[in-house]
Amino acid sequence: MKFTDLGLSEPILEAITASGYDTPTPIQAQAIPCILEGKDLLAAAQTGTGKTAGFTLPILHRLTDKSKKGPSEGRPPVRALVLTPTRELAAQVDESVKTYGQFLKLTSFAMFGGVSINPQIKALKSRVDILVATPGRLLDHVRQGTLDLSKVEILVLDEADRMLDMGFIRDIRKILELLPTSRQNLLFSATFSDDIKNLASSFLSNPETIEV
Ligand code: AMP
Repeated sequence: MKFTDLGLSEPILEAITASGYDTPTPIQAQAIPCILEGKDLLAAAQTGTGKTAGFTLPILHRLTDKSKKGPSEGRPPVRALVLTPTRELAAQVDESVKTYGQFLKLTSFAMFGGVSINPQIKALKSRVDILVATPGRLLDHVRQGTLDLSKVEILVLDEADRMLDMGFIRDIRKILELLPTSRQNLLFSATFSDDIKNLASSFLSNPETIEV
């Protein structure tokens, strides 16, 4: 199995080559075709398995595939939302999106608490196609009216088990209510506890399940 067998576009394959990758990891080989098909996904994967590229690469592909050209009114909407438990992970995922999307026109932004909110408000006024955020700060922006999630096409919960451990379940539920009902959902977790299964069954629709 090579990256070229997965159906990813040329600019994305170029970024993969620039990153020095040759072969997809097991999670990538399974998750990428599933996500490209538009399916929901429940994936058990630890850090270090290549899960970040496993969801980032096909999301970039789908967003460029479906991008609408021509004039649009007002601020362009956030199209993919990645929720992470910590600011470190948010920054890391954002870095990956920028690396794998370096030959595309999509933009990404990492947003988390513990830092001043004003630069984030300013960033949200420009184009953010892919927003990587921790749940609390994300809701602060929604409450202030500085963020609209009504056009999100793809949602990712990354390290969902850690988000539950950190007490983010209520925030996650609130965020789910702000999203359009028609969207693609991806849930990544190191473990499949009962809490994770409950959360997954509450918002994933006919998910493909992957365990590596
Ligand atoms: P992650 O599990 O997403 O935190 O990724 C772990 C590390 O594996 C990161 O440093 C990636 O740059 C690297 N990586 C991801 N995919 C591949 C691949 N297909 N081949 C080699 N390294 C990879």
